[in-house]
Amino acid sequence: MRIILLGPPGAGKGTQAVRIVERYGIPQLSTGDMLRAAVAAGTPIGLKAKAVMESGGLVSDEIVIGIVADRIEQPDARKGFILDGFPRTVAQAEALDRMLAEKGLKLDAVLEFKVDQSRLVGRIEKRAAETKARGEPVRKDDDPEVFKTRLAAYDRDTAVVAPYYRKRGLLVEIDGMRAIDEVTKAVLDALRASQRVDVEGGTH
Ligand code: AMP
Repeated sequence: MRIILLGPPGAGKGTQAVRIVERYGIPQLSTGDMLRAAVAAGTPIGLKAKAVMESGGLVSDEIVIGIVADRIEQPDARKGFILDGFPRTVAQAEALDRMLAEKGLKLDAVLEFKVDQSRLVGRIEKRAAETKARGEPVRKDDDPEVFKTRLAAYDRDTAVVAPYYRKRGLLVEIDGMRAIDEVTKAVLDALRASQRVDVEGGTH
């Protein structure tokens, strides 16, 4: 199964991805995690991405498309994957289409987490406090001011990605403001339904 999780920062994509990993045994491919690892390791990509990430902007399509292209070639991604935080622009979505088409693969579903943006800053402050309480370092871009820039980047560049998939009949909207377990139920129901459509449509 190949799925995409869409939604603004703080919408709960990462939290739900962990649960999908548990259920389906496919890896979560988070471009944010991959970029943070590159920054921590001081690789050439990390050096290019660091300042952009710290300011809350988007890393260039070229860099992000490159790391996803490499990652989906890894053996653990062969039976499927969850893309979390990618694609964030239409250019990235088009590049992903090309990558999958070359391999004769297709997407099963794109889940869009619908959230009330005015409540996200509070959520992100909670995430930062919980991370700190666990004694782990807090992400610099979870600072409230940087977070607002990330939300603006979402509205400017990423909000157009959902309509891209809606046109292809792949988009499922999930109410991301409910309790975590309720969101998980909606997510798993949507994924089961996407598999049924596939079987009925005879595309497997
Ligand atoms: P995330 O953990 O998904 O919130 O990503 C953290 C940061 O990494 C973002 O604010 C961007 O600077 C960068 N980033 C992650 N994924 C992408 C992407 N698909 N395109 C561009 N920048 C990205």
